[in-house]
Parts: sequence; C-alpha cells; structure tokens
Amino acid sequence: MIDGPAAVGIIGAGPTGALLAILLQRRGHAVALYESRADPRRSAAPTGRTINLALADRGIHALQLAGVFQDIEKALLPMRGRLIHDRDGSTSLQLYGQRPNEVIYSVSRHRLNQALLEVAAGQPGVTVHFEHRFEAADFDQGNALIRDLRGDRLIGVPMQPLLAADGAGSLMRRRLSALNLIEAHETDLEHGYKELSVPPDAAGDYTLAADALHIWPRGNHMLIALPNEDGSFTATLFLPKRGPVSFENLTQTADIEEFFSRSFPDARALMPDCVAEFKDRPIGFLGTVSAHPWAHRGMTALIGDAAHAMVPFHGQGMNCCFEDCVEFDACLGRHDSWESVFADFSALRKPDTDAIAAMALDNYLEMRERVADPKFRLQQALSHELERRFPRRFIPRYSMVMFHHEIPYRTALDRGAVQSRLLSELTAGKVWRIEDVDFGRAEREILTQLMPVPTPAPA
Ligand SMILES: Cc1cc2nc3c(=O)[nH]c(=O)nc-3n(C[C@H](O)[C@H](O)[C@H](O)COP(=O)(O)OP(=O)(O)OC[C@H]3O[C@@H](n4cnc5c(N)ncnc54)[C@H](O)[C@@H]3O)c2cc1C
Repeated sequence: MIDGPAAVGIIGAGPTGALLAILLQRRGHAVALYESRADPRRSAAPTGRTINLALADRGIHALQLAGVFQDIEKALLPMRGRLIHDRDGSTSLQLYGQRPNEVIYSVSRHRLNQALLEVAAGQPGVTVHFEHRFEAADFDQGNALIRDLRGDRLIGVPMQPLLAADGAGSLMRRRLSALNLIEAHETDLEHGYKELSVPPDAAGDYTLAADALHIWPRGNHMLIALPNEDGSFTATLFLPKRGPVSFENLTQTADIEEFFSRSFPDARALMPDCVAEFKDRPIGFLGTVSAHPWAHRGMTALIGDAAHAMVPFHGQGMNCCFEDCVEFDACLGRHDSWESVFADFSALRKPDTDAIAAMALDNYLEMRERVADPKFRLQQALSHELERRFPRRFIPRYSMVMFHHEIPYRTALDRGAVQSRLLSELTAGKVWRIEDVDFGRAEREILTQLMPVPTPAPA
C-alpha cells in the first residue's frame, strides 16, 4: 500500500478514468479526476460518435469487481450472434457462442459513462473537475498545468502521480513522446467510419432482430448495427478514406444515394435519413496506438486507450481498458512505490494489449470479408463442435476473447493460431460439411497440441 496525503490525479473521466478512480478510492486513495468535457450526467448523449458499444465478459467482470455492474445491468441488450445480411437480401445468424451466457451486450456509451461517474463521484475522497483540460507537463519539476475552462484559469497540479486516461489522442502520451521520454506510434487505418441511425417503426418497435449484431459485409467496406433501448439501432459504416468507393469520392447526393441502394438495399430502406447523415456527420478516424514504456518515473502512467488504442473490430477496446484497471489495481496491492506499480503494470499488461490490438485488426477482415465465405462458416461450426467434444482444450478464439476473462489475450492469440491451422487442415479440399471432417485426426492433434486451459476459480 502506498501512503501519501496528496490526491492521485487522473486526466480523463471516460470509461477508464472513472473506473480507475473507483478502484483507487477502494484502496484508500483520495482521487482528483480532470475531464475537459462538461458533466455527461447533465447532458443528452452526443450524436455521431459511437453511441453504443459491445460489452463482454472482461468488461463485465471489471464492473462487477468495482460494484458498478448492477447500476448498468438493466440497460444491457443481449446480442446472441452476428446476423449477416448478404447482397441478395438473404440473412443468416452466426451464433457467438454455444452456451446461454455466451452473448455480448449492446450498451449506451453515455449511460455507461453516467453510471460510472455517478459511482465514482459518490465515493468519499473522489473529486471530479469537469471542464478542466490538461494542457502541459513539466517532467523535471513534476508539475502539470490544467486549464479550468469555465474561468479560463490555469492551475498547477503536482504529478504525484497524475495518471493519463485521456484516450487515443492522449496529450500526455504525445508530450512524453515529443521529449523522447517514451516511444509512441499512432498507425491510422486506411478506413474511417460514420454513424447512421435506423429508427424504430411507427409503433416504436425494432425494424431488425434486436438480439443480434447486424453486419452487411461487402469486401472493402461494411455496415454494422447495434440495438438501442428505444427501439432504434445505431449503424456504423466503415469505408476506405480514399479510393474508388470512399469517403473522399462520395460527396454528391446522387452518388451517396446510389452507393447505399447498391451496397445495402435492405438496410437503405430502414435508414430514411442516411444520405443526410452521411453528408452531415464527421468521419471518425480509426487506428492503433502503441507506446513503450507506459510510464515516466513515478509521475505518470498511461492507461486505457491512451496506452493502447486499437481498431474497434473485436468490440474489445473498452473491455480491455476495464481489464487494465483491474490489473493496475492488482499491481497496487503488490508494491509500495508508484514507480514499481507502473513498471509491473506495463510489463504484465503490454503483451496482452499488443495481442488484442493484433486480433482486433485481424477481425476487420473477418467481419467485412470472411463471414460471407462458406469455408469460414464451416470452420466456425466445426470450432463449436470441437469445443463441445474437447471443452477447455479447444475454445474458439472469439470465445476466449469475449467470454473467458480468465484467459489472457496473449494466450487467446497463441492458442488461436494453433486452432486456426488445425481448422484449415481439417476443412481443406473437398470437406464442405461437418460430417466429412476427420474427427480421429482432430482428436490426435488437439490432445498433443492444446493443453487444457485452467478452469476459472469460482466467483
Ligand atoms: C467506432 C468505435 C466503436 C467502438 N466500439 C467498441 C465496442 O463495441 N466495445 C468496446 O469495448 N470498445 C469499443 N470501442 C473502443 C472504446 O470506445 C474505447 O476503448 C474506450 O472509450 C476508451 O476509454 P478511455 O477512457 O481510455 O478513453 P476515452 O473514452 O477516449 O476517454 C478519454 C476521456 O479523456 C478526456 N480527455 C481527453 N483529453 C483530455 C485532456 N487533455 N484533459 C482532460 N480530459 C481529456 C476525454 O474528454 C474523454 O472523456 C470503440 C471505439 C470506436 C472508435
């Protein structure tokens, strides 16, 4: 346990900063959160930027540990699988898992942030300063400058420590990197995104199945839609920024209209405002952030997206950030100086965040292309069959990531590579049906190549 009278500072009261504040307070620390935006508990959800998110086992586990889950549970909408919309209008459901609890949940980002802040701000010793923007840091003196945007006043804050949960565009990371105190890279994806709405019908009901994540895979672009509580869906269009079919080229109303009618005719009919929204809404940028180390002495540490933002195609960014907070909290219990907490945290966590960042990139190809491929569909069905026959030895990679918080991301990546090779071999050539698979060979390979994963400790 680290003592000290000063409050631990956190920049950013997004999902990571708010959850971290709760866990730090539990360990007896006073916490001061500095958030540049206004209090989201007093405003409506902003439009145009990731309105809803997929919450899965890792995120839920962290929220349960922090005692926040019961405050958000009622707002969760279960999604059992991906509902694929082919070009010809036909649909097929690919279940995410095969047990009743193997679902992911659509949750409003705004509601979740509100719930986290409500709990954080209600803890004795936690102060949340909204409209306070971190602007500069003096790493020699160990002081930061934060602007109170309401009075346009600069405040000096000692970094003892000042944790940086300021998101993918983290100013703290950029400052540390500019001074060569850390190495950091931001790799933009060649695709951007726009959010569009699918309103409810005249009776207020959903116009698509509400228990699925909808995907319209179209090769180099795709549309997805997640349900909201009010009968609507939020759709996200992922499209190349440049090139023949791209945000750069789609500027004229007629072209946009033609694009939606050609690529997504069934979805187009459910999105009356999509052309206007496409024209009015900003293009969101996507990318991967990599940094090393994540900390400077005992003054500051990067956490959440500030340390390792990733592309959103595994629906794990925020789940991973929540898991960061749990790991950080465990490190706090093992050390008596901030410097050693930070060193332990980065050393333990980075291999896992690198692994999920790689799997998130890989999943983009899977969502926009592979889900429509019959061999991929066979391999998916086979992976569930192998899990039934060899539980704890063969667990589909998607399930390891989404439903098994006890399996580290790096283990999911490594085991996933072995499993993927095996699935390709077992479905090679003329094998088009599960009945044609050589299960004798599958058994031999699995027993020799995949050791059982440990059973999770009872909750
Ligand atoms: C299109 C898209 C879809 C996504 N879908 C999913 C999903 O389905 N599931 C999932 O798990 N994840 C998803 N994510 C990822 C998820 O949004 C992020 O991982 C998560 O929001 C990161 O939380 P954070 O608190 O670290 O950063 P942020 O959410 O970015 O929060 C950072 C906070 O810091 C504040 N801030 C920034 N700079 C300063 C400053 N200088 N001073 C003070 N405050 C500052 C910001 O205002 C903000 O409130 C998605 C992301 C995108 C882009």
